[in-house]
Amino acid sequence: MKLILCVEDERSVLENNRKAFADAGYGVLTAETLAQARQRLSEQTPDGIVLDIMLPDGLGLELLTELREQGSKIPVILLTAWDKPYDVARGLRAGANDYLSKPFDYEVLLARVEAMFRNVEQMPDVIEKGNLTLQMTSMIALQDGVDMLLTQKEFALLLLFARNEGKTLSTEYIYEQVWGHSMNEDPNAVKLQVSRLRTKTEGSGYAILAVRGTGYRFEVRPATKIRKL
Ligand code: CA
Repeated sequence: MKLILCVEDERSVLENNRKAFADAGYGVLTAETLAQARQRLSEQTPDGIVLDIMLPDGLGLELLTELREQGSKIPVILLTAWDKPYDVARGLRAGANDYLSKPFDYEVLLARVEAMFRNVEQMPDVIEKGNLTLQMTSMIALQDGVDMLLTQKEFALLLLFARNEGKTLSTEYIYEQVWGHSMNEDPNAVKLQVSRLRTKTEGSGYAILAVRGTGYRFEVRPATKIRKL
């Protein structure tokens, strides 16, 4: 039985979360504050955490950051207020696996948690491509062991390329995957991000080729074209 820690200060939401998970066959721990959550985590190691951001004694992001700094890979879904999109970006950068905006449907929460467990089981925490290392949990990319200081979008783009090495990806597909919605009035956004990522991956053994009229392809740079340092 998988154990979920629900951290939530709104009693009714917490009780509904607890009931939804218990009915679905999960073991449930609850906490209403960061302090209680830390206490629970010192006693038991849950398989996943559903973490509210606004808590009486601080931000859920603090707990998330602490966990990731300690090397914990416990998957975390953040519960965010619908009108705080900035929290989502911060949360994902801090190592959240997913997020859900309040108010949410409990079926969706359960489905997200199931998907999160599937992804965690399937996804390696680290992808290595030549001298590039992509660390999923921290969303950090290293080249020859040095942090490439990629932005969130650049990381998402490099990850997409790394997972599709040698395949031509259409600009529309890239946009959907990296931006999370279909391409609107911003056709140059992909070009700009690719251009920045190219500069940052200059010293890697990989090239991002433009495929005319289609999109881009990530592939091993031909030996003759590796720049001499
Ligand atoms: Ca709250």
